[in-house]
Amino acid sequence: MCIFCNIVDGKIPNQTVVQNEEFLAFNDISPLAKIHVLIIPKAHISSFNEVSPQTMANMTSFIQEVVKKLNIKDNGYRLITNIGKEGGQEVEHLHFHLLAGEQLGKII
Ligand code: AMP
Repeated sequence: MCIFCNIVDGKIPNQTVVQNEEFLAFNDISPLAKIHVLIIPKAHISSFNEVSPQTMANMTSFIQEVVKKLNIKDNGYRLITNIGKEGGQEVEHLHFHLLAGEQLGKII
């Protein structure tokens, strides 16, 4: 079973930020910014390549909830999803990195 499915099942501990029936937001174990949260669907979806438009729509609302909870809407933040080998994806379970809490370096 994939590592994020084990987190969803409670077999691996996590620092939860927000969750609902469909999604979980938790702190990244190796943060790359003061705030580094991972947002995942609880169901296993390998990457953005496989996600349905309906799930993405629900995920958008959930991510906006996380942003509200963290109070980062006005200062700004970055959302990234790595896809596949050349995209740098290491965990094959769809996740968005939410980075915030400081001035982020320009990457693109
Ligand atoms: P990616 O390289 O886009 O697949 O990102 C995977 C992310 O998962 C990395 O930022 C890791 O630090 C993070 N990660 C791996 N294992 C855990 C864990 N047990 N708890 C929290 N974050 C994790």
